[in-house]
Amino acid sequence: MPDIPFWNKCDNRCVMCANLPAFARAPSGRYRLKAQIKRFESYLSGFSGAYAKNADNSAALNLTGGEPTLHPDFLKLLAYFRKRTPGRELSLLSNGRRFAHAPFAGAALKAAGAPFSVAVSLHGSTAAGHDAVTGVRGSFEAALTGLRNIFSLKSPGQTVEIRLVLHRRNIKDLEKMLLFLLDEFSGFKAWRAVALHYELDGRALRNRSLTLRLAASAAAVNSAARLIRGFREFRLYHFPLCLLRKELRPLAWVTLPPEDRSYAGGCGRCVLRADCVGLMASYNARFGPGELKPLYKSR
Ligand code: SF4
Repeated sequence: MPDIPFWNKCDNRCVMCANLPAFARAPSGRYRLKAQIKRFESYLSGFSGAYAKNADNSAALNLTGGEPTLHPDFLKLLAYFRKRTPGRELSLLSNGRRFAHAPFAGAALKAAGAPFSVAVSLHGSTAAGHDAVTGVRGSFEAALTGLRNIFSLKSPGQTVEIRLVLHRRNIKDLEKMLLFLLDEFSGFKAWRAVALHYELDGRALRNRSLTLRLAASAAAVNSAARLIRGFREFRLYHFPLCLLRKELRPLAWVTLPPEDRSYAGGCGRCVLRADCVGLMASYNARFGPGELKPLYKSR
């Protein structure tokens, strides 16, 4: 899915943000309504250079930021995208805070139509844990209220993805986060939970206090397998299959574009390669493939 940066400003300051601070500091002119529509029309007419990331994937349109919902003309832009791409999935990546305002949540869901998915990240099982990652007091409560509004106002064809972005600052909280999600949201339909290893990009690349090796992250996920089985739908992003327990491998998705993936070490002869995300290229550049355990025959 092409990544379409709707807006470059954000009201969180997440420690693992995959954007550099310079992205948010830059002027917003190129993201204004007219400029966005012009770029989108050029994309629709076949210009592959309209968007830098994931341009070749036509499955869905991935609306990102910054925080997309802070765009001054967010509702108009979203409605325009829907009108120009009927039947195509729009996927919105948001910190969830603006959805705490119920009238906004209702208007956004109406503008988005279907098929539509909204992905909101939770960074801890408590307000203290989440807010320490986002750098904004109150962001946990706002994101939760936003999620509840989305769940109560969404229509058929609209789904929710709750993401747990794992790094050293929250990995020990994984089981409590999973329990929290099960407690809070098990009664709702049409949603999934996702655990993903943080991307070594942007601010996260510079923040050594986040450093968490994939083997350690996967070990925590493997230990939580019993809880993960309690979810109706659960996905794992950015995890090499060889680091996951066999029963969890079907939950792993390849969401990164080819240019962001690396198949190093023994990947070339690994029987799991066809379905595997491999290593994030930036991860391989920093840590190399030493943690991988290629499988040369089915286990
Ligand atoms: S060795 Fe490489 S291809 Fe095989 S499961 Fe691990 S990361 Fe994937």
